[in-house]
Amino acid sequence: MSARDSEVTWLIVGGGIHGTYIARELKESDITPDDLMVVDSKGELLASFRRKARACGMETLRSNYVQHIGPSPFGLERFAEAKVRDDELISTQNSQPRPTLDLFVEYAEQVIERFDLQELVREATVTGISGDGPLIVETTTGSIRAANVVLAVGPNERFNRPAWAGDMDRVSHVWDEPTAPPERIEDGERVWVIGGGTTAAQFATSVADQAASVVLCSRSPLEIALREADPRWLNWQYITKQLHSLPPGSQARYDRLRKARKKGTIPPYLQRELDKTDNLEHHHEELTMVLETRDGLRLTGEQGAVHQADRVVLATGFESVYDQPLVERIASKLELERGHRGMPVLEDSTLAWRTRDGECSRIFVTGRLAEGSLGAFAGNIPGARRAAERILNPQPQRNPHQAASPSP
Ligand SMILES: Cc1cc2nc3c(=O)[nH]c(=O)nc-3n(C[C@H](O)[C@H](O)[C@H](O)COP(=O)(O)OP(=O)(O)OC[C@H]3O[C@@H](n4cnc5c(N)ncnc54)[C@H](O)[C@@H]3O)c2cc1C
Repeated sequence: MSARDSEVTWLIVGGGIHGTYIARELKESDITPDDLMVVDSKGELLASFRRKARACGMETLRSNYVQHIGPSPFGLERFAEAKVRDDELISTQNSQPRPTLDLFVEYAEQVIERFDLQELVREATVTGISGDGPLIVETTTGSIRAANVVLAVGPNERFNRPAWAGDMDRVSHVWDEPTAPPERIEDGERVWVIGGGTTAAQFATSVADQAASVVLCSRSPLEIALREADPRWLNWQYITKQLHSLPPGSQARYDRLRKARKKGTIPPYLQRELDKTDNLEHHHEELTMVLETRDGLRLTGEQGAVHQADRVVLATGFESVYDQPLVERIASKLELERGHRGMPVLEDSTLAWRTRDGECSRIFVTGRLAEGSLGAFAGNIPGARRAAERILNPQPQRNPHQAASPSP
């Protein structure tokens, strides 16, 4: 291990949208590159987001063009104009335009290059954190001492697989390798896509050209919503009123978040895509069994109805973000406080994870894991900006049970 690697002021675990955003913000502050490190399992910034987006055949983002990893809200728009790619900002009813995936990713790559962010990355998996003074971050390539750690580990990499799905070659999860939809199916197959959210709908439309038929099968009727939550959740004043007025880590916070997040919804533009795809139908039923037969797969629904398919692709999401093994290990080793269902108990004004004796640790949290303080868009792109505001420019301490004034 080099001297440089042995001790840093800030260590970010995860080089996804959130880790990259915070790394850029730190790089822009007075932190020298030697004081900052990003440890990521893939070793490449944004690799995980890119892989998942391509795996479900995503062509445009759901969020709008001011939400990205750059420093200025209009940076992506200016990038599009300069490259004469304004047509990749797709106009959207009742919203600002949304960028295509290619435009979003290419702009992100330009930001990474401009701020030399990739040079901060060490390819390794963090396996644990310990230490009373400086934190000792254990990784698969050795340990690193860090004064502060930002956990930006993203959603749980363990995917939800319904019990009936078993273990068959022809039944896979949308995030399993290989990544691109055309490689997932063979021409002329009858494909069933299981799930009722954006990923399922996106995948279903993207393989329709290649498949003989596609059935999008969800437990309940499809729900349509432009965004994952009410846009007021982007506003600190609203977040403070809705969440910070409730005890940190409480079931009341958890329930409010669940109610606020329009989980398993699809945006109207995707619904139109589903409607106009001739060989695609929506079916709403809870499946209970799948069997491999000589003719392919035999699917059984809860009312006993039987269906035939050649391939099943699960778009059934991730396991709970709070149940990640690393999160469990860190909380237990450093005696960090956890609330309802394992939600990390954070200091709302700084996103520092509190210890069981009520002190603030030097572990800061962003992404979905910080939703108890950041609100319904915590795991989304705008959540990264919100997190950086708190971690890097902590707000004055407030009475935790009183609604406070908005941050600038
Ligand atoms: C297909 C798709 C489309 C989306 N579209 C939008 C959208 O349009 N708008 C929007 O706002 N949000 C969108 N989201 C939601 C959200 O913005 C993304 O999931 C985003 O990638 C979350 O960023 P993150 O940094 O929290 O997680 P990730 O991007 O998943 O990054 C986490 C990183 O941490 C690394 N990591 C994890 N554990 C360790 C460890 N122990 N050691 C080292 N490294 C580790 C992983 O390798 C990964 O690189 C989308 C999500 C998906 C999956």
